[in-house]
Amino acid sequence: MNKVEESTQVYSIKRINPKDDFGEIKLNTETDIIELYVGNVSNFVHELTHAGQYERGDLAFHAIDGSTLLIDFGDEVEAYKNQYAYDPSVLENISTRPSSMSDVNSKFVAELGYAANNLGVAPININSSKVDLMYSYCKNMKIVKSLYSSNISSAKDIPNIKYKK
Ligand SMILES: [Zn+2]
Repeated sequence: MNKVEESTQVYSIKRINPKDDFGEIKLNTETDIIELYVGNVSNFVHELTHAGQYERGDLAFHAIDGSTLLIDFGDEVEAYKNQYAYDPSVLENISTRPSSMSDVNSKFVAELGYAANNLGVAPININSSKVDLMYSYCKNMKIVKSLYSSNISSAKDIPNIKYKK
């Protein structure tokens, strides 16, 4: 969390419904500010975890549409574990409600309805090789094909990727 505080990257926090358990993190491509759309405090902990992942190169953004890149199941599990540690009750409204920290795992994330297509199944970061990326996105043939036909050597070469330098 200190890394986010000390970073030269500017973050801004946008409040959505304060009762909301789900938020979002995205890049404002006009201002270059990373925006955290947060509901309740526990959701803030979740999105702040993603900001930390950006700081350490586990997550990146698409510089044209502002969406997240390189998010894998491990990244979401970490964010939900932190959220759960802050306040277990907020995840209790979910049908797959976890009864302990160990229930907050990849299966939990998958059951939340995250399209496995868009989350990497194996850990990836900005240093991942083309082959590592193709493996992690093996459930999304569209991504696999575009990676295969690209001439990137690592995730850092992905066109329009914004990552922490
Ligand atoms: Zn998340």
